[in-house]
Amino acid sequence: MSQNNQAIDNNWNQKVDEVADTEAAEVRKSPIAGTGVFAKRPIKKDEVVLPVTGKKLHESEISEVNRSLSLLQVDTDWYLMATGTIDDFLNHSCDPNVGFTPDGQSFFALRDIAKDEELCWDYSTCDNDPEWFMDCLCGSPKCRGKVTGFPNLDAETRARLLPISQPYLRRLYGNK
Ligand SMILES: [Zn+2]
Repeated sequence: MSQNNQAIDNNWNQKVDEVADTEAAEVRKSPIAGTGVFAKRPIKKDEVVLPVTGKKLHESEISEVNRSLSLLQVDTDWYLMATGTIDDFLNHSCDPNVGFTPDGQSFFALRDIAKDEELCWDYSTCDNDPEWFMDCLCGSPKCRGKVTGFPNLDAETRARLLPISQPYLRRLYGNK
């Protein structure tokens, strides 16, 4: 386990200049938090914008070291750890303009997005941890103030976010 942890690159988020752009998006400085991902051109509603990538880790492989890194939950006990690709730099918004595709493997546009607009997803749409939260500075009129895991969302927010959430959350919460 400790050997695994030593192999993990803790500095991925400092190598912004090395992050590969895609045809539609690139990393830039963000007014929300340090860096963010921005549209290089207008993006149409429903367009698939970016793949969701990372190193897949089981809960048992997660230590205090890499828990402090960016983890995206993709199933009960399974996570994608950030590895410094462009999808790792997307900020949260309580009023997101991208969400997960039905297979959970990409982000797609929830509405038309203008050139130079920041791409944001809602971090609650992957997280099922009842203890996790972060204070939110997204500035949206819909801002919840605290971003939490799915278990702590109110019924209205769950219903709104479920269709753009990771598939395992649709499986867990779809009939509730
Ligand atoms: Zn917010």
